[in-house]
Amino acid sequence: MDGKLKDAMPVIERLSAAGHQAYFVGGCVRDALLGRPIGDVDIATSARPEAVMAIFPKHVPTGIRHGTVTVFVKGRSYEVTTFRTESDYDDHRRPSDVAFVDDIRTDLKRRDFTVNAMAMDADGRVIDPFGGMSDLERGVIRCVGSPDERFREDALRMVRAVRFAAELGFRIAPSTWRALRRNAGLLRHIALERVGAELDKMVRGADPDRAAALFIRSCLWRTTKTPLETNGLPACAGKVKLSGLEAGDLRWIALWAASNVSPEAAHHWMSQFAFGKKRMRAIFAPLELHAAAASIPDTREAWAALALRHGRQAAADWLDVMRALPGISPVPADRLARWSAWLADIPAFAAAELALDGTELAEAAGRKGGPWIKRTMDRLLLETAAGRLPNERRALLERALRILDNEPDGK
Ligand code: ATP
Ligand code: MG
Repeated sequence: MDGKLKDAMPVIERLSAAGHQAYFVGGCVRDALLGRPIGDVDIATSARPEAVMAIFPKHVPTGIRHGTVTVFVKGRSYEVTTFRTESDYDDHRRPSDVAFVDDIRTDLKRRDFTVNAMAMDADGRVIDPFGGMSDLERGVIRCVGSPDERFREDALRMVRAVRFAAELGFRIAPSTWRALRRNAGLLRHIALERVGAELDKMVRGADPDRAAALFIRSCLWRTTKTPLETNGLPACAGKVKLSGLEAGDLRWIALWAASNVSPEAAHHWMSQFAFGKKRMRAIFAPLELHAAAASIPDTREAWAALALRHGRQAAADWLDVMRALPGISPVPADRLARWSAWLADIPAFAAAELALDGTELAEAAGRKGGPWIKRTMDRLLLETAAGRLPNERRALLERALRILDNEPDGK
């Protein structure tokens, strides 16, 4: 049994010892059977949430209304969810009501795909009412029950079908695919935040290029609440090969850059996808640099100014993406190589990284503090970044005094 499942065994054992049924369920069972690295270990139990909380003193009632309690065992956390059915899907979105049940098979029936609808007990025995094992062996994503009904209940499942097919390298079963095409329009009912979370997993996943191709072929890119179609994403999806980039935000930088949307528009999408502020900044800054790069003169000084404005990380990320995908670069490869070497030579990106500080400068210049300090330090930064001045105290001070000599009345 996989190490992660072994670690989680005490959760199953404690529930069983209290007289409840408990199983590993969903993605962890699928991945264990495939021999893939397991993500989260989820557990399903006949115990009601109150009973789960009583058995595990360390817990957080994360989704108590839906029967989910997060429990902590040996420093790890697990989601323990009471067996349940779902009903009353409002507007093709998640269910408004759940009912607890006593049988694991009824719980498995509410799950999206056969490969996600298996449970495993403490002895490694698999409960597989819908042929998930055979679909795993044949590499097929198939809805549990009627695909039309399942997609009508929760339209996000269509996006998930694409994601799992790309992630696992599986085909989508013909009946599931046809239903997906028929129901694609229902995706407009789903909050962009939920779609964004799935898209993010696709972009960062095992095969973002296949995910993009399937997403486009399924027409789902036209049917999101605000259609992704409007910003050129599909046109670019065939043009760039995302899998060549390290799985992370570099792929998002590449996607937005290739789709020719403004950095502001990309930012807007990402905030609707509920990406965190830090991530948005890390993606937005290289995009701003991208937008400006085409029109700067090919001089060390101009590149240095651009790199200083957006920061070392943004410049390095942008160069990584452009070198991996020269097709979307606004400048030729030899220039990228030069810019890359120049970037590596920039000694300081902020006044604080200069070997001279403002107070020292004011003393040496015999002037009172004022805006002139920042202005002068910025000049020093630019000149060091452009390779015209070493980041050494004496050299910086001499240069600063010379600059000040030329503007005697500077404030
Ligand atoms: P991953 O490794 O990507 O997390 P996962 O299978 O664990 O894959 P989750 O989104 O974490 O996927 O969901 C956990 C399980 O919950 C799924 O395996 C599936 O059984 C069930 N599930 C999740 N979302 C839905 C949904 N929209 N409709 C039906 N069942 C779902
Ligand atoms: Mg999961």
